[in-house]
Amino acid sequence: MNDVYPEQQEPSPAQPPFDDPNADVILRSSDGVDFYTFKIILSLASPVFKTMFSLRLPRDAESISPSSPHVVTVTESSETLEHLLLYCFPRSSSSTPSFDSLDDGVAVAEAAAKYDMQGVLGHVKERLVASPFLETDPITFYGVSCRKGWKAEAQLAAARAVEVVEFGCMDHYVPELENITAGAYYRLLRYRLDCCVASKKLLENLTWLPKASGLEALLDPHHRSCVSGGGIKATGSRGQTTAIPPLWFCEYLKGTGEELFVQPRAYTVMDSDLYHAALLKASQGCQTCRSRGAQALTRFRNLCAAEVSKVAFKVKLEFKS
Ligand SMILES: [Zn+2]
Repeated sequence: MNDVYPEQQEPSPAQPPFDDPNADVILRSSDGVDFYTFKIILSLASPVFKTMFSLRLPRDAESISPSSPHVVTVTESSETLEHLLLYCFPRSSSSTPSFDSLDDGVAVAEAAAKYDMQGVLGHVKERLVASPFLETDPITFYGVSCRKGWKAEAQLAAARAVEVVEFGCMDHYVPELENITAGAYYRLLRYRLDCCVASKKLLENLTWLPKASGLEALLDPHHRSCVSGGGIKATGSRGQTTAIPPLWFCEYLKGTGEELFVQPRAYTVMDSDLYHAALLKASQGCQTCRSRGAQALTRFRNLCAAEVSKVAFKVKLEFKS
């Protein structure tokens, strides 16, 4: 950043609201667009600009009168600068346009960090987290977050990656992987493995079930004519207990746990063929299983999927900035 316009070409004025003739400072972008703005707004948003304006700025060579606005040439493009200034303008903080790409958003975030605009930086990161880029390309988002030192955003991206990326197929290459360290990628894989283990454990210990889960048909030991699958810790109608479920349900728990170890996400539970196999076995069981097993299993499946979806947010991503 300097206050001398180095280009020979004629600058062009920015679009509204950055064409105000009453402006007291002009920010000139690297591609020669003049943004007419106000020192007070920039000073409130940025300690860097506040310090700059507290100093006696040399007049720009093109300034004709002493009352003409100062021209400050910056290294940001007009696109980045427009976004940055829209975030600074109070009336537009909630109506800033969305970013066309993750790179565009990162450029604005870099500018906000450069000018120490912490409030703007927070808004930009919030906008990026809510953007489709995290949903559709979480590994790239994770990589960018690692490079920028954005811990919370890296955790969200890692959680999304566990949800949608087929890590086992090894076809999840994205160019951003060239930019991050092997350590950062290792920590993503480590995090996913921790999610695999935590998801599998949900099926080995059912104490996460709510007390009034309505799953007595699965957990209470009244299946006299059903083969027992052994004991399992659970929350039943009388609180935490050792349940003695029928064998078919225990087999469902074991198989689903193994599937979750491979793909630790809610969809694994909802899409598993084991559910239909268990329904069939329930229909061949005792009176309790036949009359109430299917409904209880469906309820269990929904509760389990909801619990699995929380795992990626409970497992902590190791992060080094
Ligand atoms: Zn039974």
